Parts: sequence; structure tokens; C-alpha cells
Amino acid sequence: MDDELETCWLCGENGAQDPLDTHHIFGGPDRRKSEKYGLKVKLCHNRCHIFGPMSAHQNAETALSLHQYGQRKWMEEQGKTIDDFRREFGRNYL
Ligand SMILES: [Zn+2]
Ligand SMILES: [Zn+2]
Repeated sequence: MDDELETCWLCGENGAQDPLDTHHIFGGPDRRKSEKYGLKVKLCHNRCHIFGPMSAHQNAETALSLHQYGQRKWMEEQGKTIDDFRREFGRNYL
């Protein structure tokens, strides 16, 4: 198991109360790219992933923060620029 993924990206909980899900940072048509590049985070299933008011699938600000995090991570790990990101993912979140 990957140590850095064992706590919730949003709140830092360890999943004991609310099991951790894997969330693909870029969903829809880009889900496969999220898979390919490892652009995934752990989120508490109810509170932070699907249902809570701040959850990734309900809250636009949380989703944007995740997209920004994912873009920075991709650029850093792949040694790429914003233009490269725009070419691969179709937009720029930064
Ligand atoms: Zn998700
Ligand atoms: Zn959480």
C-alpha cells in the first residue's frame, strides 16, 4: 500500500470512521489519464468524496483545488509545462 495515500486528501482522516475511497482527480473522458498518470487521491467516502457539502463531487471549490493539485503534480512528475498540460488535458486550472 502506498503510504502517502492512506489519509484523506481533504481532511486528513485515516478512514476509520468513514472508509477512504479512491477518487480520480480528472474524471469523465480524462479518467483514463488519471489512471495512467496516477492522478488519484484518497477521500472519506461520505464526507469528502460523494455526499458532504465540501465533498469533491458536490463542491466546485474542492474540485478546483483537486484539479490544481493534480495539474501541479502532473507537471512536476512529468517535467512538463502548463502548455503541455493544456495539450494533454484540454485546459489549464492554474
Ligand atoms: Zn470521485
Ligand atoms: Zn476526509
